[in-house]
Amino acid sequence: MDFPTVATAASLVSNAISSLKNVREMAKETSNDDLNAKINDAYGALLDLREYALVIDDENRKLKEQIAAKANYLGPLPPHGYYYSASDADKKHPLCPKCYQSDPQQLGFMDEPKNWSYGIKRDCKLCGKTIWEVPPNYAQHETLREYDPYG
Ligand SMILES: [Zn+2]
Repeated sequence: MDFPTVATAASLVSNAISSLKNVREMAKETSNDDLNAKINDAYGALLDLREYALVIDDENRKLKEQIAAKANYLGPLPPHGYYYSASDADKKHPLCPKCYQSDPQQLGFMDEPKNWSYGIKRDCKLCGKTIWEVPPNYAQHETLREYDPYG
């Protein structure tokens, strides 16, 4: 069966309801009670189906939006699990994985890399999450603290 490209399930059911409405009007003139009852049953079933189709159409619309949104971002990419906007081809502006995966989703940019405790880290500008790109080296930190240039 070919569906018009812009048709929703609800609009297809609405078309069927319109057709059946015409049949119902014609059947009323026959005074056939059995036929009228069957047509009313079918009419009721189609109304239920239209309600369900509206729910399905709404879910479908939301899923399409989610798929489109995913195409706008890449990630999580190794080695640090950052996300990137698809328009950030050079991957210079990493997005915070914690914010990206939160519900509702948020877009928090990571700040510039900082030298910290002999490692390199970035913090999320939105939620403050720290990601170590080079792990801190506290042992190195302690060695230098104990160093006494006058000793
Ligand atoms: Zn964040």
